[in-house]
Amino acid sequence: MSDCIFCKIINGEIPSAKIYEDEHVYAFLDISQVTEGHTLVIPKKHCQDVFDLDEETAANLFKAVPKIANGIKAAYAPKGLNTLNNNGSFADQSVFHIHIHLLPRYDENDGFK
Ligand code: 5GP
Ligand code: ZN
Repeated sequence: MSDCIFCKIINGEIPSAKIYEDEHVYAFLDISQVTEGHTLVIPKKHCQDVFDLDEETAANLFKAVPKIANGIKAAYAPKGLNTLNNNGSFADQSVFHIHIHLLPRYDENDGFK
């Protein structure tokens, strides 16, 4: 989608700190680091949200999540990690290209919640 900022990140029009890439998926650091290493995982195919997500794209997206989570674990040594996905503005989605937040957790004062 031409006016989607995450599509622009995928095609390099907007710079990003890349964490992982394969044929179907791109992962990069969130511009607003809620916790250190806060990462967004997105499908290269533009899908708006979970309601718009076809099964093949869902499988490709979630297949990459354990690899990326383990990379974050190795790099940042968090004590845990939240995966989070907002769908629809009522549910706090602000960018309408589906994304999974990976939020490394360090302690009770790490900035999340
Ligand atoms: P949402 O609120 O839709 O679940 O999450 C959207 C996320 O995208 C936010 O955490 C926001 O910081 C992040 N974001 C928005 N614009 C950009 C950008 O241009 N670059 C990066 N790396 N992250 C962005
Ligand atoms: Zn998009």
